[in-house]
Amino acid sequence: MLQFEDHIPSIGGAALQPVVNVPPARIPAAGSATSADVVSRRVRVEDKRIINGKADVNQLVPFKYKWAWEKYLSGCANHWMPQEINMSRDIATWKDPNGLTEDERLVVKRNLGFFVTADSLAANNIVLGTYRHITAPECRQYLLRQAFEEAIHTHAYQYIVESLGLDEGEIFNAYHEVSSIREKDEFLIPFIEILTNPEFKTGTPETDQQLLRSLIVFACIMEGLFFYVGFAQILALGRQNKMMGAAEQYQYILRDESMHCNFGIDLINQIKMENPHLWTSEFREEIRGLIQKGVELEYRYAEDTMPRGVLGLNAPMFKEYLRFVANRRAQQIGLDPLYPGANNPFPWMSEMVDLKKEKNFFETRVIEYQTGGALNWD
Ligand code: FE
Repeated sequence: MLQFEDHIPSIGGAALQPVVNVPPARIPAAGSATSADVVSRRVRVEDKRIINGKADVNQLVPFKYKWAWEKYLSGCANHWMPQEINMSRDIATWKDPNGLTEDERLVVKRNLGFFVTADSLAANNIVLGTYRHITAPECRQYLLRQAFEEAIHTHAYQYIVESLGLDEGEIFNAYHEVSSIREKDEFLIPFIEILTNPEFKTGTPETDQQLLRSLIVFACIMEGLFFYVGFAQILALGRQNKMMGAAEQYQYILRDESMHCNFGIDLINQIKMENPHLWTSEFREEIRGLIQKGVELEYRYAEDTMPRGVLGLNAPMFKEYLRFVANRRAQQIGLDPLYPGANNPFPWMSEMVDLKKEKNFFETRVIEYQTGGALNWD
């Protein structure tokens, strides 16, 4: 059985380490003139690197990676909180013996069974792993926003479990107890473990490839593939006017996750551009194999959550969908499609991904997010 706590090494007691390969900030003495020497030591755009950078990571500007800063701003503009969404209709549907079929109830429970712990793994991966190894402050700024969004997602799943009065022990232990969920997590854990190991340092072709491999697994397979059966299932319920509060939250989560995935892909492509020697043919073949493995695992999860057809969906439709999504992920990082000719059986999912802040499909949100809440100084 998985012991997830064993996989996250404690770094709480470790002395604060400067970022690998980054010299401490040099601060000119007060009152000193801005001599040519001082200016020459200031951070220059051309010194910034995504990995193994030598420039001070505390200086957000001058900007080099504007795409990362823009994603940070978009993430903030999309802010939402779970408790803004009214769950009363979902609760009535869940309590009504005729509100949902047994197969639909299984979909909801297995679905939450994966997601209640998945975003926690994602958060650990960012905070205890990825963040330390990324030396571009614009990217770190986005990762901080992303980490908070992972917390909001875990909060959302917990809020749904609590609202519906589900058995918390059953749902939160599904990643130990349901094999199709456990297998997905067991696939991911080694790639998280590499980055969270306090001994791990980038700076050689081998370790830089290890980091790049983990980033690809995370963006393209976890956030870019392992979430998609689950999102399609709950959004399909919402499209049939069932569990619309849950569906609305999943819609916001899907929007956040598609940005996490796109950020990850931009990060991967930038690392490839700055370090072309990492992108060898052996490495590319290995990545193709990992994506294929991800498709198999996600398909097994689809079969396990939908042993019979439900909601007009069935597992074979997901086989096609996962192949379509996997092709897209492969192409986004510069690989040839793995499953030529795969089509998208769920075109409505694309509309859901493109959700604009002012628009939602289920319209159950009851409170507007207060961006301009006035402070009272009296
Ligand atoms: Fe995420």
